[in-house]
Amino acid sequence: MRENVEWLVARTAFPLSMVAALWSTMVLIDRGGSPDAVAGQVIFLSYVFIAVLERLVPLHEEWRRDKGDLKADIGLGVTNAIVNGVAQPLTFVASVAVAGWISTQYGANLWPVEWPMVLQLVLALILAEFVEYTWHRCMHEIPWMWRLHAPHHSANRLYWFNALRFHPIDLLVAGPGKLIPLGVLGASAPVLALVGVFSAVHGVYQHANIPCRLGPLNWVFSMAELHRWHHSPDVEEANHNYGGNLIFWDIVFGTRFLPSDREPPVEIGIGDLPSFPQGFGALMMSPFRWNKVVAESKR
Ligand SMILES: [Zn+2]
Ligand SMILES: [Zn+2]
Repeated sequence: MRENVEWLVARTAFPLSMVAALWSTMVLIDRGGSPDAVAGQVIFLSYVFIAVLERLVPLHEEWRRDKGDLKADIGLGVTNAIVNGVAQPLTFVASVAVAGWISTQYGANLWPVEWPMVLQLVLALILAEFVEYTWHRCMHEIPWMWRLHAPHHSANRLYWFNALRFHPIDLLVAGPGKLIPLGVLGASAPVLALVGVFSAVHGVYQHANIPCRLGPLNWVFSMAELHRWHHSPDVEEANHNYGGNLIFWDIVFGTRFLPSDREPPVEIGIGDLPSFPQGFGALMMSPFRWNKVVAESKR
């Protein structure tokens, strides 16, 4: 019985949740709901659903236990909810102002508003993902930028809350940054709301401690089976699968990684920094006291 439930969850939980979240967002906005408010409610309910699913069908028992990371995750989650709540609307307002200027200069709104909403969402995700892919890859490959992204990879287990475990400066650029091309091209508020819902639901499933088997959809989404390799302690394995939502740009640039002969590691973290600090304050300060963080792991 349990195996049957796990089999079903692994293959259907993510696609069905995503369809339900996007569909309810579109319906509620159509009925006059404010795009931001609707997106916030749908995202909140999705988080609760995924957290409950983790309790019922965990992938790894080891990832269920608080390894001294929960308090820091809550601190970072609250900080990042505030950072995102303020920064994303501001970025969008600035982008809309640029879009308005382009529109008056060239006499046309560049966004294909006449396309069906699903196609507008696909276009928006591919464009937003290019910014996210580039930023994420730079974070891994440029040493001073890695300091800002390392807190995310310092997690020693994967569970739904990891989707918010970022240094606020990392999120401050990556989160709103991906909306800039959409705002500049003139994407509407409902399209932005759908991108927000897609990113949030995808991000939580990507880190959730539940079984996931997407088969050919692993060529579309940057889901948990791929992202668990991105959290490998082996840097050669971790420097792959940079896509936030789609694996599209990893395929284009040759950084997709999904070995078929083995499973992703259960012991995760940063291989050469095993003593990475785990407290909230220490994580916040880690980019600015990097030499100390490195020295503590070398002792
Ligand atoms: Zn990363
Ligand atoms: Zn991650």
